[in-house]
Amino acid sequence: MSAALTDTRSAELYERAQRRIPGGVNSPVRAMRSIGRDPIFIDRGEGAEILDVDGNRYIDYVCSWGPLIHGHAYPRVLAALRETAAKGTSFGAPTAGEVRLAEMVAERMQGVEMLRMTSSGTEASMTAIRLARAATGREHVLKFAGAYHGHLDGLLAEAGSGLATQALPASPGVPESAAAQTIVIPWNDEAALRASTAGSELAAIIAEPLPANMGLVPPAPGFLELLRERADQCGALLLLDEVISGFRVARGGAQELSGVQADLTIMGKVIGGGLPAAALGGATELMRMLAPAGAVYQAGTLSGNPLAVAAGIATLELLDEDAYERLADYTARLAAGLREAAHAAGRAVQIVSATGLLTVFFSDEPIANFGQATRSDLALYARWCRELLARGVYPPPSQFEAWFPSLAHSEEQLQRTLAAAAAAFAALEQPELVA
Ligand SMILES: *Cc1c(COP(=O)(O)O)cnc(C)c1O
Repeated sequence: MSAALTDTRSAELYERAQRRIPGGVNSPVRAMRSIGRDPIFIDRGEGAEILDVDGNRYIDYVCSWGPLIHGHAYPRVLAALRETAAKGTSFGAPTAGEVRLAEMVAERMQGVEMLRMTSSGTEASMTAIRLARAATGREHVLKFAGAYHGHLDGLLAEAGSGLATQALPASPGVPESAAAQTIVIPWNDEAALRASTAGSELAAIIAEPLPANMGLVPPAPGFLELLRERADQCGALLLLDEVISGFRVARGGAQELSGVQADLTIMGKVIGGGLPAAALGGATELMRMLAPAGAVYQAGTLSGNPLAVAAGIATLELLDEDAYERLADYTARLAAGLREAAHAAGRAVQIVSATGLLTVFFSDEPIANFGQATRSDLALYARWCRELLARGVYPPPSQFEAWFPSLAHSEEQLQRTLAAAAAAFAALEQPELVA
């Protein structure tokens, strides 16, 4: 039985929002269109749970799309914010917190000797590409289909995340000249990688070392090593976008796990602990090309904002070895339980997981690239998500986004999630009850 959600206040707000905000939301995936329903307006979060404006409570597996690795309203993060806010929220002048956060990141991320902070992952990617172009004197960038690096013009070609969710191949408004500088090849395709880097004039190869914006699609064994080798061979910089994986899958991100090191690392999400912060970092020699040390221009009114920095420091400080073990354990048990629930319902799914990340693909073939991800059963995933929401579990409302379990998720919440998932799988056999 699926309890119908009360959604009077969400519906009212959505109607008002649509008059003043395009599509009623400030970032497309929030509209929940790809799972065939209207958005849910959130009132507050408590640990691993969120409450909507109609009083419905959900176990949250979006957690702001990754930043909230300690869950919502974590007391130590809130205390750091209160203390910092009392002294003023922004100065446009350097503060001690920025130095401390830069030191903390450099200590955790191999290869990041120096970093520059921005307010969003999009800006960090944009600057990393500008820097790679300046350093190499070349223009072209190689990216992978289904990877998302933010909404900068040149990288929207065959991007994942919200763009995949809306089934848009690129975006109107992107100049042909910008798109022409981007070469897109399938993820995990060795032959395409060799062919497109042979004797090429690439400024950069940009990749998510653990792609999570087409759903989670890990690299095939040896693929990251090949990226490094081909970048070196053709004189391009390797840009690894760890906006999702950084500080999540391990203390030193996906690069710690694979041992394959970037020339420039792009960070975001967890680094801001739920406030707007992101960064790019790399070797001193390269990073010193940025203004004012060097000639490559980059700036930001709110870059290194004191509140975002305070939330980032508090968040990183709490991530010790025990935290990663707990997150790995929770995610592994969530994956195993979901697999069991799908199996019991006779449903073919591919469940892919890493520490703090998970995707349930409604597909009977393993997923190694974006093409395969798009062939999974999107209508069935949408229906399953609606059934989960009706049972108090809030999954990412798109097949092309990862689940983000947090350190706040408890054993009791795991069991409730799995019971809801089993009931949602079973409900797929029945006609849908319309709320
Ligand atoms: C979210 C994301 C970005 C963009 O970050 P924003 O802060 O949303 O601009 C870039 N790269 C990856 C891998 C992301 O997941």
